[in-house]
Amino acid sequence: MLTDTHCHLDFNKFDEDRDAVIQRSMETGIERILIPGLDLESSQAAIKLAESHPTIYAAVGFHPTDLDKFSENAFDEIKKLASHAKVVAVGEIGIDYYWVKKPDERAFQIEILRRQLAFAASVNNPVIIHMREEEDAWFGQASIDLLQNLREWHKTLIVENHPLAEKPGVLHSFNGNLETAQKAIELNFYIGVTGPVTYKNADHIFYIGAGSTSIRGTADSGTGWRGSSSRFTLGIGTHFICWRETHPAHPGSARRKYA
Ligand SMILES: [Zn+2]
Repeated sequence: MLTDTHCHLDFNKFDEDRDAVIQRSMETGIERILIPGLDLESSQAAIKLAESHPTIYAAVGFHPTDLDKFSENAFDEIKKLASHAKVVAVGEIGIDYYWVKKPDERAFQIEILRRQLAFAASVNNPVIIHMREEEDAWFGQASIDLLQNLREWHKTLIVENHPLAEKPGVLHSFNGNLETAQKAIELNFYIGVTGPVTYKNADHIFYIGAGSTSIRGTADSGTGWRGSSSRFTLGIGTHFICWRETHPAHPGSARRKYA
């Protein structure tokens, strides 16, 4: 079964043809779609869509660049949403030092990340992690801070013999280096290889995808991220075998990159 684990179908750019997009996705073999939340409002929107389509599921949470919308009340509401039958993950949550530069705001990102990780464990839902480095570097403080927090969280999961220790979640649209990916995999995370693989200097991500037998893949279209076009990496078994263009308007226009 092929699942798109990251598709912002609630964005208003899909208002005109959302149903057609969903239909085409299903025709091209996607059997399930997960819509992540960015804040309370978009988490509610994701659930609404999930309620109206049997193949759609929702995640709830606060994105690191949307923390101006965070409040204790909103977090309480998000926690209530997590008990909805079609909510299957907490996300997207994480660290973004590309857009957020001020030290106090970065510290707040980490605080909210920790709280959302604890919340995910409390509701036994895996997490969808967003991570972006300053200047889009492949390695930097965001990777360091993220790994440290994921490691600490994972340690508590193991101590508690928590089921999430085996499948804690995904580093979606991964744009770190191979070492970071390997460290996350050691913590049993999945790696979503998507948009960043299309950067001109991203050959090493192809190596992550093509060369590593230990890496786990997810189908994560990143749809809605960085304009209207995104790439879709298919993870089959332990290898990424191809990626293809999946502009929502043309989900069938597969282009084989490597096999
Ligand atoms: Zn996203």
